[in-house]
Amino acid sequence: MNQAPPLTGYNAFSENTWIPVLDPVREKALALGALVGSEAGQELAANANRHEPELRTHDRYGKRIDTVEFHPSYHALMQHAFGGGVHSAAWTARSDGFSAHATLFYLWNQLEQGTACPVTMTFASIAVLRQAPEIAREWEPKVLANAYDPRPLPFAQKQGVTIGMAMTEKQGGSDLRMVRTEARATANGEYLLTGHKWFCSAPMSDAFFTLARLPEGVTCFFVPRSLPDGTRNTFLIQRLKDKCGNRSNASSEIEYRDTRAWLVGEPGRGIATIIEMAHLTRFDIVVGTAGMMRVAFDQALHHARHREAFGKKLSEHALMQNVLADLSLEAEAAARLAFHLARAFDAKEAAITRILTPVAKYWHCKRLPVMTVEAMEVLGGNGYVEEAMLARLYREAPLNGIWEGSGNVICLDVLRSLAKSTEGLEMLLAEMQGTGDGRLVRHATAIRALLAKNEGLEASARRLVEMIALGVQATLMVRQSSSKDGELFVASRIAGDSGRQLGTLSSSSLSS
Ligand SMILES: Cc1cc2nc3c(=O)[nH]c(=O)nc-3n(C[C@H](O)[C@H](O)[C@H](O)COP(=O)(O)OP(=O)(O)OC[C@H]3O[C@@H](n4cnc5c(N)ncnc54)[C@H](O)[C@@H]3O)c2cc1C
Repeated sequence: MNQAPPLTGYNAFSENTWIPVLDPVREKALALGALVGSEAGQELAANANRHEPELRTHDRYGKRIDTVEFHPSYHALMQHAFGGGVHSAAWTARSDGFSAHATLFYLWNQLEQGTACPVTMTFASIAVLRQAPEIAREWEPKVLANAYDPRPLPFAQKQGVTIGMAMTEKQGGSDLRMVRTEARATANGEYLLTGHKWFCSAPMSDAFFTLARLPEGVTCFFVPRSLPDGTRNTFLIQRLKDKCGNRSNASSEIEYRDTRAWLVGEPGRGIATIIEMAHLTRFDIVVGTAGMMRVAFDQALHHARHREAFGKKLSEHALMQNVLADLSLEAEAAARLAFHLARAFDAKEAAITRILTPVAKYWHCKRLPVMTVEAMEVLGGNGYVEEAMLARLYREAPLNGIWEGSGNVICLDVLRSLAKSTEGLEMLLAEMQGTGDGRLVRHATAIRALLAKNEGLEASARRLVEMIALGVQATLMVRQSSSKDGELFVASRIAGDSGRQLGTLSSSSLSS
């Protein structure tokens, strides 16, 4: 008695009014939305995480094979993601490619996050691939094919391929100037790499963008798993990481030993080259975290609508309503910010995307763990049990804040971008002021004042980034949401009319 039924049989796309209506991927989004809301899709996600990938370093004759074996559920999910074009829509949609991709990636992250890793790397790889036109000519059609083929076959025999990125070494992940893997030029214009990578996710991918050191400095290289003659490149997978979450995704330690590689971009400019890819994976994190917030909220609301305590549904209790309303505001503001950023990418508004991508990456990643904990608590004891999706989401939640630039590093990146130009920030502040809401006008002034201080700015970087993120979210809520939700968001997040936890909205504004 009194157990909530599972949340299945809904469409995560058509039932979500926060997603902008977009023709180019409507059919795909409807299909994906149905998968997200289906028992079968949710079962695939649970199984892919319960039955973890296993490393096979050698075959039975002792030959190195360096492969990873996955549960069939993982392959089924990858088939859905790559077959459905989640990785390719940005580059292939008739129009509004980034918004199309954002729609699909937002939905995908409501289903399963381990597979989101190879999806986002393959999507983002195009930015670096195009800096190596000869490689791009051959590889881009297969990167953008809506096909998934997990077999370790020679490149020529594959319809679709996946791409990874391997930068982090033992001695440094944020500070990539410390890369020690060495590259030696060969007589035929290729390079041989020797060294290691301490983190390399999705090591079964068909090729990697990686960093190694030339006399000119840290340089970007392309490392395919299969060589032009069809043999395997040396790519030694030493271990898989035993991780807190993200368990369907294989994350490995690898070694290069005279591994054949091709130069990408200019020697010594490797970090600047590969950061183009990281800029796009950071964008995906903004979108993906918004999706995860949405599913956390959906799960909490569903439970509260079905479970009774003290004589009525949980959702009918005033204090629970405050918690649910606050969760909803958080998830809606994140979605609106994510789709706003996608639109800016489509409009090629580089000044905006340059600053808003790290700002939103930092903020969403900080809010997601808070949200998952609160949503889990709404489910009571059931929330802490593995069968409820929230336990998995909870373990997953901190990861986006760590990879692709951890919190502090991202905030310092915002400062670096502002030191070069404040054009993007000024555009965002003008939007805040343009709402005509006195609280947002004062908020914009406070951001300018903090920035003008200069002294101690590094130590204040988190504060500054948080203020920008909240200001942009509030602007979007005022402009795009219902007047009540816009007002609640501004009152609680900008004017300080709330406590430090979720569920502390002022009761007068809630009931008005
Ligand atoms: C599951 C998983 C998968 C991963 N997959 C990949 C992958 O496929 N490819 C890849 O290349 N990497 C991958 N990584 C590595 C990841 O990108 C790095 O862990 C991350 O960039 C942080 O680097 P680090 O671990 O060396 O930490 P550090 O660089 O040692 O940083 C530690 C902490 O110090 C902070 N910090 C650093 N510099 C400063 C500063 N100047 N001021 C203030 N604070 C600072 C950081 O914000 C961070 O919180 C993966 C990591 C995980 C957890």
